[in-house]
Order: sequence, then structure tokens, then C-alpha cells
Amino acid sequence: MVSLTLQGITRKFGDVTAVDDVSLEIARGELFFLLGPSGCGKTTLLRLIAGFYAPDAGSILFDGQEVTRRPPHRRNTGMVFQNYALWPHMTVRENVAYGLVLRKVPPSEQNDRVAEALRMVRMERYGERSPNQLSGGQQQRVALARALVIRPDVVLLDEPLSNLDARLRLEMRDEIRRIHDETATTMIYVTHDQKEALSMADRVAVMDTGAVAQTGEPRSIYDRPANAFVADFIGETNFVAGRLTRLDMPLAVETPVGILHSTIEPAEDLSPGDEVVCSIRPEAIRVSRPDPTGGEEENVLSGVVRQTVYLGDHEQYSVQLDDGTLVKLVDHRPGQRLAGPGAPIRLSCDPSRVVVIGKPG
Ligand code: ATP
Repeated sequence: MVSLTLQGITRKFGDVTAVDDVSLEIARGELFFLLGPSGCGKTTLLRLIAGFYAPDAGSILFDGQEVTRRPPHRRNTGMVFQNYALWPHMTVRENVAYGLVLRKVPPSEQNDRVAEALRMVRMERYGERSPNQLSGGQQQRVALARALVIRPDVVLLDEPLSNLDARLRLEMRDEIRRIHDETATTMIYVTHDQKEALSMADRVAVMDTGAVAQTGEPRSIYDRPANAFVADFIGETNFVAGRLTRLDMPLAVETPVGILHSTIEPAEDLSPGDEVVCSIRPEAIRVSRPDPTGGEEENVLSGVVRQTVYLGDHEQYSVQLDDGTLVKLVDHRPGQRLAGPGAPIRLSCDPSRVVVIGKPG
């Protein structure tokens, strides 16, 4: 396994800048995700790391060694594709052994290593089958074994679970995480599925039109999005627009529905007077009840319930605030309905769950 350093990587196709000045440090043994919407440049970045494309600018280093111009077969990367890309005319065993044959590994060692790789992905009983006799999930396990058998310095996974049904996707998330932990290999995983990234990653780089919008652990990206793009792309959020009136802690934002306080340090450079939005996750909003001690509640919003959706383990509420802004909240104990459509409602949110970010656009 290696660490990776990307320094100012840019790659253009004609007038399209697919990857725009990307710099990243990926540690040895990390399960690192490139996450973003379709067309944001994640596959191009993965292919640059594999060596299928050369960058127009910037450097790629493996363990501090420059590999920017090194061809793919001299980088020792294992690749796993969305469509598995197994050879249909070869057995599972032959597919997995292929990389070892190319590397002229002696046949006896080949047998041991193929057996070890198939055991790792729990496919040891399927060696003599042809790929078309396997389910999608099994084919993806074989593709993983084929990538791992060469003992790669880094495994690159390009949307590996997209072709699987929802149940198998969940199962394979756990499997890939287990295989990562057992092999301790550096893995870079491309997906547009934020749940996949949040549930599996050590760290995530969120990409927006070729550039990295934020890098961090799943919790910090979800709880402290650095800008409106990340707040909106990762999970659901509510935006309440306003003007920053105090930059000292707690921050204060004057909004048409009252003053909102936040105790989260903003990631961007903001000044008092700036137009901002407060990003508040639906689960951070509570239905406010009068304080029996008569104390003042912070961050109280009032409005009218517009819609409720009962989903068994939780219930979603859409509330129209007094200025017309619609916010969503979730109640995770929906045994008793909080309020029905048309009912006035008072909401509140903890200042530690309000993220102040610069107004987009
Ligand atoms: P998806 O999730 O849809 O695969 P992505 O985030 O992986 O998207 P890329 O495939 O890296 O995005 O594409 C980034 C941009 O570069 C897109 O605008 C795409 O149209 C463009 N692009 C990618 N490959 C080429 C190519 N070979 N020739 C021309 N344009 C390309």
C-alpha cells in the first residue's frame, strides 16, 4: 500500500475542464471516497491516478515518488469497474489469475494467491464457474479478487455497486469495508451515492464541477458542510437566508423569521453584514415546547404545518415559516403525531446544529 499525493491536477477535454486544480493527500491504508454528482470529474480523476490519462498540469506521487508520466502497467494499481469487466470466456479462477500470468508469477504461487484472493471475497467454491453463471454481486466479488490478487499498492473502484440491486448494494458495502480492513490496502472509491460514502469512507472528497469542494471525515462533512453545495448535496438540509450581524461566538444571523444563533465556526471568510444562509438539517429541528422554568428558548421559528408523511420509523413534516420559507423536519418517534396540516407550530434548533455559510451564487 502507498500514500498518494495529488498536486494541482488539471485535465481538460476540449473546452471542458473535467478536473480543475485538484490537490489531495490520501494516507496509506485509507478508504478514500471521491463523491459528487454526475459529470463532476470523479472518474477522470480516478483514471488520472491509474495512468489511463495524463494530466495537463500537476503531479501525482505514490509514497512521495513522482508517477505522473508512468504508464498504467507500471503503477501497480488494481481497478474495479461498475460493469465488473470480467472475461466471459475464462473461468472465475482464470479471470483472477490473469494479472499474475501477465506478471509472470510462477504457476504454483499463482494457485496459492488465487485461492487466497477468492477466500478473501468468499468465492472459493466458484473457481471453475464461468462469469455468466454468477449473480451480479458474485461477479463484483470476483472483480475485487482480480484487483486484489496482484497485491496492488492502491485499489481504484469506479462506482462498483451501481449495477446491483438495493439489498445487494447494502451487503456489498459491508463486504468491501471488511475486505479493506483485512487487507489494509489504500483504496480510492468513486461514487455519486452519498449514503455509500457516508457509511463506508474513512474520508471523503466532495467534488463540484472538477474541483474539490470539501475534504473530511463523513461526520464533519455532514455536520459542518463548508459551503452551500456540500450542504445541499450531502443529505437533506434547510436553508434559511439572512444577514450576518455578529461574527463573535455565538454568531448571529438576522433572518425574516427572527435571529438565529450558531456556535459553529464558519469555514468561509465571512464579515458582518454579509448575506448568508443558515443550513439546518431536518433532524436538528425540534418542535418547541414552552420551557416549564420560564426560560427563553433560542432559535425559535414559527410557522404552519403544510404536510406530514408517516414512514413507520419516522415522520416527516413540512412547515411553512412566517415569511413563506418551507422547512422540513423529522420526528423519529412518530407514535404520536406532533401536529397535522394547517396547525400552527413553533420550532427550535440548537445553535450547535446551525451552520452559517456564504450565500450561494
Ligand atoms: P459520472 O458519475 O456521470 O461518471 P463523473 O463525475 O465521473 O461523472 P467524468 O466522467 O470524470 O465525471 O466527466 C467529467 C467531465 O468531463 C464531464 O463533463 C464529461 O462530459 C467530460 N469528459 C469525460 N471524459 C471525456 C472524454 N473522453 N472526452 C470528452 N469529454 C469528457
